[in-house]
Amino acid sequence: MHLNNIGWIVNPGDLTPELIDRLAGCGINELGIHPGGGKRAPQLLEETLAFHALKSTQALYARARDRGITVEYDAHVLSWLLPREEFERHPDWFRMDESGARTPDINMCASSEEALDYVSRRAMLLAERLHTPSHRYAYWIDDVKNGACCCPRCRGLSAADQALKITNAMYRGAKQADGEAVMGFLAYQDTLALPETVKPEKGIYLEYAPIDRDSARPIDDVACAANVSQTANLKKLLAFFGSENARVLEYWVDNSRFSDWKRPPKPMALNEDVMQKDVRFYASLGFRDMTSFACFLGPDYIGLYGQPPIERYAGILKEIG
Ligand SMILES: [Zn+2]
Repeated sequence: MHLNNIGWIVNPGDLTPELIDRLAGCGINELGIHPGGGKRAPQLLEETLAFHALKSTQALYARARDRGITVEYDAHVLSWLLPREEFERHPDWFRMDESGARTPDINMCASSEEALDYVSRRAMLLAERLHTPSHRYAYWIDDVKNGACCCPRCRGLSAADQALKITNAMYRGAKQADGEAVMGFLAYQDTLALPETVKPEKGIYLEYAPIDRDSARPIDDVACAANVSQTANLKKLLAFFGSENARVLEYWVDNSRFSDWKRPPKPMALNEDVMQKDVRFYASLGFRDMTSFACFLGPDYIGLYGQPPIERYAGILKEIG
């Protein structure tokens, strides 16, 4: 077996020329930039737009390109695409909570055609402003659980169906900016369920992120309830979205998760045994693209603990994948 793409996803502040050289040196060919999740995602995306425009950032991206690494953005973009300030003028664009009240807190109404059109237009703008030579767009809805719309029109749609409608809208926009765009449907948390009534546009691929897994146990450990909950629908999801471009987005080296998303980072050890078993499992299902969040392993981490285990991580993906 042989993987098509081996990735590494960092926060903008983790990125250095030395990192790019190390990634290239061990065969990593996909660099993801993740602005950060949670409630601050729109603000972090705004900061990332400023970061993207810097000459020094463009020099880093050129360095990556010269070393055979594609650069892409992996971001929770929805609250940026649909600014919360629009709530006053268009409350019907936003989701209805379980009490029946419209709220701009998170996500959107997935049945508002006007809102979906607006999101498409903004996705086109974002794809233009965050242009990289990669055609892969990992644009995601908000980073929350229980974020679905409960309005009468959305009530019959599961959280996964709503997320897919929104992802389709974002994709239509990105495609206007880049005719070769492909976009990930982020299957994680509430969207690990199989969409039931909405179909993906051609060009949407499965982006599987088992965030609620137990990282101390192999993902296919049937005795681990947390991991069983993450993989229960995985084969069906792959069949539904197809294996072309399907990607595992793991947490093997996500030191932001291991540090509870608070800097300073904690020391991190790669669990090689678990990662080897995971990679074998994912490869057996047909995944040919694998990446991992690798945040909080930048200059502050290196200053505290030395180099992170990039070579060993890439080695496992190359040996087993
Ligand atoms: Zn709705």
